[in-house]
Amino acid sequence: GDIYIGHEVLPRKNSHGFELTDPIAFAPLKQAVEASAGKTWTGGPIVDGIAGKADLAVVNPATGEVVGHTANTDAALIDQAFTSAAEHQRAWNRIGGEARANILDKVADLYEQHIDELVAMICREAGRTLNDGISEVREAVDFCRYYANGARQHFSKPTVLPGPTGESNELSLCGRGVFVCISPWNFPLAIFTGQVVAALAAGNAVMAKPAEQTPLIAARAVQLMHEAGIPKKILHLITGTGAAIGKPLLDHPRVAGVAFTGSTETAKHINMQLAAKDGPIVPLIAETGGQNVMIVDSTALPEQVVDDVINSAFLSAGQRCSALRILCVQDVIADNLLNMLKGACEELVLGDPSKLETDIGPVIDEKALGMLERHRELMNVEGKTLFAFDESKRPQSGTFFGPQVVEIKDINLLKREVFGPFLHVVRFKAEELEEVIRRINATGYGLTFGLHSRIEGRAGAIFKRIDAGNCYINRDMVGAVVGVNPFGGMGLSGTGPKAGGPHYLFRFANEKTKTVNT
Ligand code: NAD
Repeated sequence: GDIYIGHEVLPRKNSHGFELTDPIAFAPLKQAVEASAGKTWTGGPIVDGIAGKADLAVVNPATGEVVGHTANTDAALIDQAFTSAAEHQRAWNRIGGEARANILDKVADLYEQHIDELVAMICREAGRTLNDGISEVREAVDFCRYYANGARQHFSKPTVLPGPTGESNELSLCGRGVFVCISPWNFPLAIFTGQVVAALAAGNAVMAKPAEQTPLIAARAVQLMHEAGIPKKILHLITGTGAAIGKPLLDHPRVAGVAFTGSTETAKHINMQLAAKDGPIVPLIAETGGQNVMIVDSTALPEQVVDDVINSAFLSAGQRCSALRILCVQDVIADNLLNMLKGACEELVLGDPSKLETDIGPVIDEKALGMLERHRELMNVEGKTLFAFDESKRPQSGTFFGPQVVEIKDINLLKREVFGPFLHVVRFKAEELEEVIRRINATGYGLTFGLHSRIEGRAGAIFKRIDAGNCYINRDMVGAVVGVNPFGGMGLSGTGPKAGGPHYLFRFANEKTKTVNT
């Protein structure tokens, strides 16, 4: 169960895991993945429960094959969806937190019942490995149940407040109206679901806008949400690229709030667009990129560090916002540690994400691959290569990029997030620790941070000074668990509140105080 100081939280269990080494447990997933080969799905807009036409190809990044079709939703259909959503939102708000929570719990049940199919889709559409796919469905399930409990707890009845004799006061929470939820491709089910169910739990209607690379899994999620009982007029799927539909979606007068997860640049662009609108001030919840650093001092356990670095930097092909980008190692242990790290990198398997033995699948598309290849060229000049993936082992089709480790002189050399399996290493001397911390904060990003040290008191002291939303001590830096490791950054990495944390739902709500002279 969840326990928070200052927050009473209803009992809840996170979604259970899978024993993939057990052939019997693995068989249904294996069959679902095999059965999905050659299959195509539809992922165009869904407005009022009706699927619109879909004529743009969606490709599997591991093979280049077409796995389905999507569309840029036209402005008239976007307007129709807003009108429908706005008309029905009050009724959805009125049914209260408990009734909405019961429906969200059913969404979680349906996701669990369809986990094999969902993992197969995530694997084929987004190129995520089976392990990543399973974790992702579990996270999506956890979001549903966690926010359902939040709705029960905070949106079912008002909080009674004190007042002078002859007056009663209460505070209640209600939906803001129509929320626009814009999500990225790197967690195409979990982040999509997390935003949407939070907005719904708080009593909003939702315009859900998935990334253009991953609309198929989003369309399947919306179908399951409707099947669970979320009214078709309350949840609409709006597909398309930011360039094609960003303007009609965000300029619409019915937008009451925006939840965005994606790059810092896009978040700033959206923020400016919202600020320029006539009418009410529209709140933006933005969860964005990172420039995530791990500090390893001379007291760290090298074997554990290597394991945690491999997980943090390379799994999910480094395409996690939380992924490790810069490893700062104290000079006295650097040679030994980097040698061990190199050995571990040599063991990494790049390839077909639907095979259990694969560690690293493809990057999402040609644009991502091009960016990484350009960065590698730059690093060949500016840095010293410590490990370069053997290009002869790179699959011939698909957008694959092998892991790289490069040593650089200074954190400042990296101006932007490099979104892929690319690790940068910086050595520091004991007396430079303070300066390293100053430079980490000076990047302006503040998402995840890691520390490996056995010096008592050092973790607490550094934690206080590092401006990062999620600090991990003596472990890896990825895989935040809903309700356990509330997730989100600060500065260039986002506005908060944290996804999967006790304050998230409040940002989706309006507050009303009722004062009665009795
Ligand atoms: P992106 O910013 O390119 O796209 C994100 C979403 O915004 C997509 O749905 C896209 O279609 C949409 N979009 C783009 N331009 C738009 C516009 N003008 N108007 C409206 N919508 C628009 O990001 P991405 O490449 O999909 O995702 C990767 C990024 O996401 C990385 O920077 C990563 O760090 C970040 N991310 C952050 C978190 C977090 O929790 N902080 C989680 C996952 C990913």
